[in-house]
Amino acid sequence: MASVKDYKDVVGTSVIEELYAVGEKAGALKIQHVNSTAVGGGVAEILTRLVPMMRELGVDARWDVIKGGEKFFAITKKMHNALHGVPETFTQDEWDHFIEVDRDNARQMNFENDVVFIHDPQPIGLVEERTHLNNKWVWRCHIDFSEPRENVWLFLKDYIERFDGAIFSAPAFSRPLKTRQFLISPSIDPLSDKNRELDDEYVRSIFERFEIDIKRPVITQISRFDYLKDPVGVIKAYKLVKRYIDCQLVLAGGGATDDPEGEKVLADVRNAADGDNDIFVLLLPPSSDLEINALQRGSTVVLQKSLREGFGLTVAEAMWKGKPVIASAVGGIPLQIKHKYSGILTHSIEGTAYWMKQLINEPSFARELGRNGREHIKQNFLITRHLREYLLLSLSLFHDKDIVYL
Ligand code: UDP
Repeated sequence: MASVKDYKDVVGTSVIEELYAVGEKAGALKIQHVNSTAVGGGVAEILTRLVPMMRELGVDARWDVIKGGEKFFAITKKMHNALHGVPETFTQDEWDHFIEVDRDNARQMNFENDVVFIHDPQPIGLVEERTHLNNKWVWRCHIDFSEPRENVWLFLKDYIERFDGAIFSAPAFSRPLKTRQFLISPSIDPLSDKNRELDDEYVRSIFERFEIDIKRPVITQISRFDYLKDPVGVIKAYKLVKRYIDCQLVLAGGGATDDPEGEKVLADVRNAADGDNDIFVLLLPPSSDLEINALQRGSTVVLQKSLREGFGLTVAEAMWKGKPVIASAVGGIPLQIKHKYSGILTHSIEGTAYWMKQLINEPSFARELGRNGREHIKQNFLITRHLREYLLLSLSLFHDKDIVYL
């Protein structure tokens, strides 16, 4: 695993020196992260690297994962959908079960740390524990919060306001709240297996393994099988393009342990693919970082046709690899893509299909988008920036004013 110093070659010496300086100040802090899955999805992806890097800078950082049964994760998935604007109904028994599971988890956990970051709604009830403790609690929201359904919003608001602050990934997600709000965008790790450079030979070998023809255009979307990632919409867009261009479509993803809907979505995707031999639906096991890296690198165009998106790490991952990306203008995606400069933003199946054709037919424009995209990610969305912001925020919680002097 890369050490903090190894990032010098990517981001430059001054960024690393500053990180060590902040780490020296924050080194006195014990920082805890809590979420609901160790693998799958963007939150686990980030914590896997952020926590070891914090430790390397001298911070006593730890990461805990809450446990829950099928019923709990069915409820939290409905909450997730409702926060993303999908109408869902909840019974009192479901609200009670949700809180009971969080209380059960709390009884088995230890929160004696200076700062406790609670990620997303699943473990939000743990904040009840803060009444016995004299420490700081921050709710870290990774969700597209622009149009939450009122039932779930009112339920969560009561918990969010018990925190010392709430972090959102994009300005559009900020809401009227009686607690401080922070903006921290997520990030990718340029040295992880998911994102590091790969040689062409290896990329080719992965395409061969999946029997994808790297010589013909390949359009790829990497995502958990989730309706909000609109995989069926992706297939519809591909079918519009396929009338004119002999291309292939790769839909690759696995599940997350806190997402019970995956199997149903996968069945719908297979149905929509309807036996087309140029559609590759790949169900990937959790340890597929190199495969995902190679699929992104070997693709002609990368898609992220989400209906809602907290941030969309897959967009940053593909842009970092210099790929032309076509993605929906939702959630945190417009923070990453400036339309027709660093990628393409779309609003419909037809628009997505139009730009797929354009980019396949105009490789020099596609390359220019990829070049600009990579630079934008380098300047804004690498893990070194993210790490610095978490540490500065943690320090600021112990100051009367918002400014932290180094
Ligand atoms: N991912 C993965 N395996 C999969 C599907 C996705 O490792 O089968 C990774 C993907 O590369 C990205 C993260 O999971 O790093 C997904 O984050 P994103 O923000 O795009 O979406 P989320 O799943 O959090 O909604």
